[in-house]
Amino acid sequence: MTENTAFYPGSFDPITNGHIDIATRALKLFDRVIVGIASSLNKNTLFSPEERLLLVREVIGKTFAQQKQRIIVVGFNSLLIESMREHKAKVVLRGMRAVSDFEFEFQLASMNRALEPQIETIFLTASEKYHFLSSRFVREIALMGGDVSAFVHPTISKALAKKSIRNKVDTQ
Ligand code: ADP
Repeated sequence: MTENTAFYPGSFDPITNGHIDIATRALKLFDRVIVGIASSLNKNTLFSPEERLLLVREVIGKTFAQQKQRIIVVGFNSLLIESMREHKAKVVLRGMRAVSDFEFEFQLASMNRALEPQIETIFLTASEKYHFLSSRFVREIALMGGDVSAFVHPTISKALAKKSIRNKVDTQ
């Protein structure tokens, strides 16, 4: 029997409850979900690729403790389609929040299809309570000292608190 595997790529800078909601839904549809942490060569991220990999592994491990074999976290710095080939995944999973996400996601799906016609992209929508939620807002609120505990796992709240303390020291 061939396993139905979805590859969920992103920056996860940091992982939020919106990402977790999408992964939860995907586990109902696929045998296996691979969360792919992109190194994002051209992106200025708050957390390094190594930090993001460790944080996402910890959060996913705690959240999906009962389904450990079905959801794994990997880092990738190659083309998405190459990493998907390596992990035998044929479906790209992405989350869609609002019309504003549509254009970029549509282009990304089309580019991936042009590079590898066997790949399909599937979009899921998170619960309404996460429609406004983005890693960018979480970063900005946390760095300005706001409370992000409603939006992220406690592991991430702690990691963000450490970053904002370091940021304050650096700018003094
Ligand atoms: P990228 O930097 O590649 O856009 P992100 O880590 O920001 O990656 O997001 C990864 C995927 O998760 C994207 O498809 C994004 O649209 C989706 N996503 C992020 N936040 C949410 C949310 N609150 N609800 C639904 N999907 C989301």
